[in-house]
Amino acid sequence: MSNALSVKNLNVSYLGNVALTNVSFQVDEGALVGIIGPNGAGKSTLIKAMMGLIPSETGKVEILGKPIRKIRKKIAYVPQRNDIDWDFPIHVIDAVMIGTYPHLGLFKRPKKQEREWAYQCLERVGMQDYSKRQIGELSGGQQQRVFLARALAQNADIFFLDEPFVGVDVSSENTIMQILKELQKEGKTTLVVHHDLSKANVYFDELILLNKELIAKGEVTDVLEVNTIQKAYGNPLAFMKNEIGVKQA
Ligand code: ADP
Ligand code: MG
Repeated sequence: MSNALSVKNLNVSYLGNVALTNVSFQVDEGALVGIIGPNGAGKSTLIKAMMGLIPSETGKVEILGKPIRKIRKKIAYVPQRNDIDWDFPIHVIDAVMIGTYPHLGLFKRPKKQEREWAYQCLERVGMQDYSKRQIGELSGGQQQRVFLARALAQNADIFFLDEPFVGVDVSSENTIMQILKELQKEGKTTLVVHHDLSKANVYFDELILLNKELIAKGEVTDVLEVNTIQKAYGNPLAFMKNEIGVKQA
């Protein structure tokens, strides 16, 4: 299996406050990986830095063997809910069409073909009946499905999703998860920031546990281990070990 993502010695600070320190890891092609860790652990920062959306002090990120600037089109990103302006006046179908833009040439406007493709992507997430709505009118789950459709429209090889299940109903969560599993079968690589440890073992093959530094990375059962969880979250979580399937030390 080849390498989809390689991160080496990534250091990121915001105005002198360290957010990520010396983070290094690799992800195989076709992996479905959860990024977990407490609030403020740097999970969103990691995704943004990997995508080159924020500057890093040091570090080398390679995606499918290439530096980010050469492979940007191949990466789809679903930002965290509160990074999106939901009042922005845009119809659902147009929001999805944005996903097709990276593949259009300079000055070329999307045409019928792109619109049809965007519609198919909406169908895949079960939102085809909402194509003419404004995104602000939708429920949280519907909005998140539209953003997944936009990512699908991009025909990417790597997907980064930041907390896609926050503010989302159970049925949308299931739909999104099912599509992520399908993408995996198609050989796509997906990293999902996720804070709910209870579902981590059902959703993901591997976990990256972060708290400014990389605490652990590997198979879910190895990462959800009392020592590593305590290292990331501190003691209070230990009492939950049976509910979330954390292995006893
Ligand atoms: P997580 O996604 O794990 O909750 P973040 O990556 O959002 O964590 O944030 C990591 C740390 O960096 C936090 O302490 C946060 O307050 C800080 N931070 C995040 N974004 C900014 C920003 N734009 N400016 C300054 N500090 C930031
Ligand atoms: Mg975050």
